[in-house]
Amino acid sequence: MVMTEASTIWFDGALVPWQQAQVHVLTHGLHYGTGVLEGTRVHGTADGAAVFRLDDHLRRLVRSAGMLRLPLPYGVEELAAGTLDMLRANGQRSCYVRHFAFLGYGSMGLDMRGVPTTTVIASWDWPEAVEARPLRLKTSSWRRNDPNSVPPAAKATGPYLNSVLARREATDAGYDEALLLAADGSVSECSAENVFTVRDGVLRTPPAASGALEGLTQDTVLTLARDLGVEVRVERLLRSDLYAADEVFVCGTAAGIAPVGSLDDRELPTAPGTLTERLADAYRAAVTGENPRYAHWLTRL
Ligand code: PMP
Repeated sequence: MVMTEASTIWFDGALVPWQQAQVHVLTHGLHYGTGVLEGTRVHGTADGAAVFRLDDHLRRLVRSAGMLRLPLPYGVEELAAGTLDMLRANGQRSCYVRHFAFLGYGSMGLDMRGVPTTTVIASWDWPEAVEARPLRLKTSSWRRNDPNSVPPAAKATGPYLNSVLARREATDAGYDEALLLAADGSVSECSAENVFTVRDGVLRTPPAASGALEGLTQDTVLTLARDLGVEVRVERLLRSDLYAADEVFVCGTAAGIAPVGSLDDRELPTAPGTLTERLADAYRAAVTGENPRYAHWLTRL
């Protein structure tokens, strides 16, 4: 998606004009992928814009940095305050927020000790999801990063090459998105979304042990489903469990809840399915503040 420039970016603790938020070409993270990131959404609500699950995203950023042993100079509270300062300055109503921290300039080579961290918060316009046609998925020839090679639980920049390769392969073949399997052949997730199946009214999604990111939208969907009285299971899934499902959908901060129409050219019986639609409605009501039960997930500007 093409970015619309905003006026400011939070850069190592200060608000700087968008065009001045720059780094040197010999930045460590550019060469070795030594960085962590978050993607968070701001939605319009009846009482102005609100950030969805800001603290949870920032806590995941801190956990990701810890897994990489990347020193994060700011804590959750400082990053939350910086996010709100920046968003108020930018004045967007519906946008995407990118928090990221990476090893910066000053030393090259694989020994990361002593390399200073650069921390950035940026936002750009992101329109509310419009109803799109169901996604056509293809199982990727690329396996999800093996947890013994690089931890998929850390939302880190370098490992995204895995997702980029898978997405490119799928789109080159005429599909919308890639489904990645873990090294053991179980279903992991898509390039930037967690995956869910519905069969006989039971909602299932793969666990972190299958190499899936602990997605906050995944967690949101599980909570909404339980609150609707739906039986949910976080368990290992096979590719054939998706072929045999009544409904499949993917979810993530950027994608929202998106129905899947087919996997490997096998059509799903319904897309969007009844439960997918109910969950998408519940999700919309939660992120827009329409359902007060989930008001604790919103940080108002
Ligand atoms: N898996 C991957 C690989 C992702 O990049 C994302 C997007 N962050 C997700 C799942 C969904 O996570 P979330 O719901 O927290 O955005």
